[in-house]
Amino acid sequence: MGIIESQLPERFRQEIREQIEIYSQRRTFEERKSIPDTTEIPIQDRTRWFRIRSIICVCVDMLGSTRFSASMNESATAGAYQLFTGTAVAVFDRFEASYIDVKGDGVFALFNGNQPYRALAAAVTFKTFSKEEFVPKVKVATGITVGCHIGIDKKLVLVRKLGLKRYADRSDRQNEVWAGKPVNMAAKLAAKTVDGELLVSDRFYEAMPDEYARYSCGCNTGQVGQAKTLLWSGVDLTVDGKFDFEPAYCLKSQWCSIHGNEYCEKLLTLDE
Ligand SMILES: [Zn+2]
Repeated sequence: MGIIESQLPERFRQEIREQIEIYSQRRTFEERKSIPDTTEIPIQDRTRWFRIRSIICVCVDMLGSTRFSASMNESATAGAYQLFTGTAVAVFDRFEASYIDVKGDGVFALFNGNQPYRALAAAVTFKTFSKEEFVPKVKVATGITVGCHIGIDKKLVLVRKLGLKRYADRSDRQNEVWAGKPVNMAAKLAAKTVDGELLVSDRFYEAMPDEYARYSCGCNTGQVGQAKTLLWSGVDLTVDGKFDFEPAYCLKSQWCSIHGNEYCEKLLTLDE
């Protein structure tokens, strides 16, 4: 078994052999209480990993980006990508996410496990941007209906840098790899939604029990003084098979035009 000499030139076989040698070594996992700065994440020591018990991942993805054809309207297509991705990174940065990365048509942001309200406020802010600004602006410029979908999960993650160690000034051949459920599941949750929906795992939902995160300000009832309503609805994922939890919870609303500001600030005070 294995790749033989007559099958592949030696210099390429050698690279593969070196990786298999690393694979056969015993790995160590260092417990970290919170998301480390990227400069601290291991790259040199091949067997060293960090383990973080609880990380929240917020994934946002552009919906309908396949409808763009670059040849059709170059400038509008480029502009839409830039507005979506640029805003996602800027907003998550301003909400003090510990780690942000661009992935394909989307962006994911990581928050520490004890910051569920901050993660939620960031997600609702992006959702509000998408509905109020992004979708209408792109529609006007291109005639194309785009959208955004968002997922959030929370669980244990293993991290290290994988790829080539930095050489010359290049860093494009390595990246942090967050192995574990949250990044995967948040992306899969996002993929299950239609435009404007935020879908979260039950283990994230349970981490934010405060009524500011769960109930409406009352405006959506249309009548002053009417009782606050639960904003989230349960979604059964049992039949799906892709998820290691059930149910998920779906939020359709965005920041209220009267109370959003107050709710956003309030959520930011709730994390311990
Ligand atoms: Zn309101």
